[in-house]
Amino acid sequence: MTTTTETYGVDPDPTPLALLLLGRQADPNSERGVECPGDLPAASDPGLVERARAAKAALGDRVFILGHHYQRDEVIEFADVTGDSFKLARDAAARPEAEYIVFCGVHFMAESADILTSEAQQVVLPDLAAGCSMADMATAEQVAECWDVLTEAGIADVTVPVSYMNSSADIKAFTGKHGGTICTSSNAKRALEWAFEQGEKVLFLPDQHLGRNTAVLEMGFSLDDCVLYNPHKPNGGLTAEQLRNARMILWRGHCSVHGRFSVDSVNEVRERIPGVTVLVHPECKHEVVNAADMVGSTEYIIKALDAAEPGSKWAIGTELNLVRRLAKAHPDKEIVFLDRTVCFCSTMNRIDLPHLVWALESLVEGRVPNVITVDPETEKYAKAALDRMLALP
Ligand code: SF4
Repeated sequence: MTTTTETYGVDPDPTPLALLLLGRQADPNSERGVECPGDLPAASDPGLVERARAAKAALGDRVFILGHHYQRDEVIEFADVTGDSFKLARDAAARPEAEYIVFCGVHFMAESADILTSEAQQVVLPDLAAGCSMADMATAEQVAECWDVLTEAGIADVTVPVSYMNSSADIKAFTGKHGGTICTSSNAKRALEWAFEQGEKVLFLPDQHLGRNTAVLEMGFSLDDCVLYNPHKPNGGLTAEQLRNARMILWRGHCSVHGRFSVDSVNEVRERIPGVTVLVHPECKHEVVNAADMVGSTEYIIKALDAAEPGSKWAIGTELNLVRRLAKAHPDKEIVFLDRTVCFCSTMNRIDLPHLVWALESLVEGRVPNVITVDPETEKYAKAALDRMLALP
């Protein structure tokens, strides 16, 4: 049974993320790339906006700039299209005339864009240190080891892997190879329904919260149906019997941004703003989602606020750049961030105007920087998993 605070809490085992954020260090186990470029324009350069405009104009249709919803305003200003990671990858694939796809997002998103775009298109990530702490919580070696544990428990052949879009290409390929599918926060329920038609159990990677929230709140599973596989413990910290009794095997990963919201944040905002509606992302902890009024993906949150009555009051539990932009876009509604503490996705924030200018100017000069390439074998299986998602009813 997975009901302890420890179970839902933040992973105490450190990842190499902090080291990468601080410097130019390589981490072969990370879903990110390695070095940051050293010749960036200064952030204080007053000509940065002009330089970005000029470089973009010089490249014309040869470049297509994607801006994830969680990016800074200064970057979003130059995006040809905005959206969540999957929408952006598909948008890039729909623009075959663009030789260069500049992905203002994080590393796994650029990998997905490389998988879905043609060979003639190159995907550029303006800062290779822009990774995702959640994606880093499931490495290929750890997941292979987990599959061995499931095999020994005699359940691998009745288990279907379902991986959240927020995972490395390696994990997507593992999923494809083992007959599983990818899901987004919008279609997780459909993906799980499909998976339970194929097998008896699901191994859900890497976000425990999306897996648990979908299974329990949308599909009628109980918390007792779920177990938490901790890759840092022998056999995931589970007995063979616990694995055999479970229907949902949740990987012990989480988003460091959405994982920060607490039930206290919900109670506090209700006291501070009487009549407020609390709307949170399904990457939030189960108890936070239970305490909120509504739960939904980024696209759902955007639509809910578009449709909201003027004068209505909202507290939103998702990334701060997006919440601020939504508040600005709806001055007739009161829209606040769910937590009092400022909370950006720090890795998304690695992509700033100096990095974007550097990437665009490099392309103008004929150099293609920070190309994200997924090897053909990984791409083949990752694409199989993505195609299964596209074919979901
Ligand atoms: S918001 Fe969370 S899941 Fe999204 S990129 Fe940042 S750390 Fe990863």
